[in-house]
Amino acid sequence: MLKHDIKGYLISHTHLDHVQGLVVASPDASNKTIYSLPSVSAEIEQNYFNWKVWPNMLNRGQQPQLKKYHMEDLKPGEAKDLAGTNMTVTAFPLNHAGSESTAFLIESGDDAILCFGDTGPDEVQKTANMQDIWKAIADKGGSRS
Ligand SMILES: [Zn+2]
Repeated sequence: MLKHDIKGYLISHTHLDHVQGLVVASPDASNKTIYSLPSVSAEIEQNYFNWKVWPNMLNRGQQPQLKKYHMEDLKPGEAKDLAGTNMTVTAFPLNHAGSESTAFLIESGDDAILCFGDTGPDEVQKTANMQDIWKAIADKGGSRS
C-alpha cells in the first residue's frame, strides 16, 4: 500500500509527531511527491533530510540528493494538481505555536474535504488565518442531492 496506493504526502508542519513516519519509512518508500508550503519544505530539508539526522532523500538540499521524494512548494490559496490522482490541493497557512502550519483543501469534481494541521483560534494565535480560510471556502458549500 505504501508503495503503490499512496501517491504523495501533504505535510502540514514539521513537528516530529507529524513527520517521523515520512522520515523513517523513506528508505522503503517508492518515489513520491511531498506537497507543502515553502516554509514547511525548507524545514523538512534543513532539519531532517540533511545527511546528519537522515540521508537526503529529497531532490533539493545537501548533496548527494537521493531524489526519492520530489518537493513541490504550494502557493497559499492556489490549487495544484496532485500527481497520479484526479484531485487538487489548495494550501492555507495556519499559525501553530509560532510556526507555520497548513490547512489543505482537497477537491475532486464537486467533492471537497478541508483538513487542518495543528492550529489554534485566531484570537489566541493573533492572526486572521481561520477567518481567511472560511471566507475562501464559503462558496464551496453547494447543495447536495
Ligand atoms: Zn504540531
